[in-house]
Amino acid sequence: MTSPVYIATKRSGYAHPKCYLSHTKGCSEKISGEHYISEALLNVIEKQNRTIDVTGFTWLPKEQLSSISKANLKAKILCTNHNCALSPLDSAVADFVAAIGSIDIEQQKQVPLCLAYSVDGTSIERWLIKVVYGLVVSGQIKQKTGQPFLVKEKCMSLLCSPHARWPVGWGLYLPKRPGHVYHSSSFELIPQYNPDNGLLLCLDLKFNGIVMHFVMGKPDTKESFGIHRPAELRFVKGDTSCKISFSWAARKAGEAVTLRHVGTYSGRAPGLDLPRAP
Ligand SMILES: [Zn+2]
Repeated sequence: MTSPVYIATKRSGYAHPKCYLSHTKGCSEKISGEHYISEALLNVIEKQNRTIDVTGFTWLPKEQLSSISKANLKAKILCTNHNCALSPLDSAVADFVAAIGSIDIEQQKQVPLCLAYSVDGTSIERWLIKVVYGLVVSGQIKQKTGQPFLVKEKCMSLLCSPHARWPVGWGLYLPKRPGHVYHSSSFELIPQYNPDNGLLLCLDLKFNGIVMHFVMGKPDTKESFGIHRPAELRFVKGDTSCKISFSWAARKAGEAVTLRHVGTYSGRAPGLDLPRAP
């Protein structure tokens, strides 16, 4: 489990004009090249796939997969102080995705071990807010009209303080019955927003094929996104099971979500079987 991550414990008094956390006045004078999808997560994906295939960015051909270097997924949007202060969130998500990958490899064995991991769920949620700011501030994702997205003000305090109070209904949800999951070393993010004002409301996510929703608002019906902040993600194969336990700042956790291993699959997962860009 990771320790709480605070933003800039020492106030330098300086606000770097290019840093999106400049209002905290804790900036260094040097701007960093920040991976808006964390380098630590990209490293896990690259290690498992030997390549980084991406789609969906504004500067790439539509409906095609492009193999690119991690260096192409950087933008100058954080000073070195703030990049460093947020880096434990990157490690938390990389550990989470690596745990899913290790369980998947283990459960391909005839007699798998029962692996157990612990993940700080609140760090994953705050990492998702960091990704939102990175993608929006650098202009990597936009509304269908080409206009920039707006991020709710509350997101900034949730990113900056591990003890900020989360509004009711906000946070990570996992579908109660996840359906058919094709484990693949991948990360998918589809923003949902209000077309009237461009406000981001939800991220539809897949971590290694596992569907989740990150909700930045109070859902109309509590059940529509699934289990709010589950206590565990269980991976069952025959009589054995592995698990990832989540801890949440709000202390309350929802019921466990169970995935059952039904076989192995060596092709590209549906949705990732796009043609390659020339
Ligand atoms: Zn800064």
